[in-house]
Amino acid sequence: MANLNPTEEQQRTTAVELLGRDPRTPFTVKTFCPDGSPQVLLADPVFKEDGIWKPFPAFLWLVCPRLKALVANLEQQGQVREYSQRLKLDEAFRENFMNGQKEVAELRVSLAQKIYPGELPEHIREILAETTVAGSRDFNGVKCLHSHLAQELAFHNNPIGATVLTQIKNCSEKDHCGTMRARRSEP
Ligand SMILES: [Zn+2]
Repeated sequence: MANLNPTEEQQRTTAVELLGRDPRTPFTVKTFCPDGSPQVLLADPVFKEDGIWKPFPAFLWLVCPRLKALVANLEQQGQVREYSQRLKLDEAFRENFMNGQKEVAELRVSLAQKIYPGELPEHIREILAETTVAGSRDFNGVKCLHSHLAQELAFHNNPIGATVLTQIKNCSEKDHCGTMRARRSEP
């Protein structure tokens, strides 16, 4: 971390502020809001601490305060259940969803193997290969809209996230997502 240039260091500081905690696993900023503040973070999908493997299948973190608030509203309206229903009933939608989950699972495994070459235990590889982006073993379970939107923003392969995005719209210049955070933290 010592050789981060000031811009990267600033990005990291803002990302940690937006996340609300300093994560133990390393991460990079995957997408930005139009005002330049971090929008989606990509964390290492696995982390080794004191010789113990800790897998993080939910490795994409939505940190934009605007999107987080709007998605929380949708969840409060019961849309997690609505999307779960749609996965059950709409075959084409489910197929797109499954393909996206497979792509992300493969990405997680290849990232983990790159970070820990030749070291990754089989049971950890399995968790990374067989869990949804929301950290669920049930591929028909939606669980949380934030992670699906994060996947759509990061990789454009999550139809739940894509539909959420048509409902709430991606951030624009006039949203000032970064200053939204500053306003919120005022007493
Ligand atoms: Zn934003």
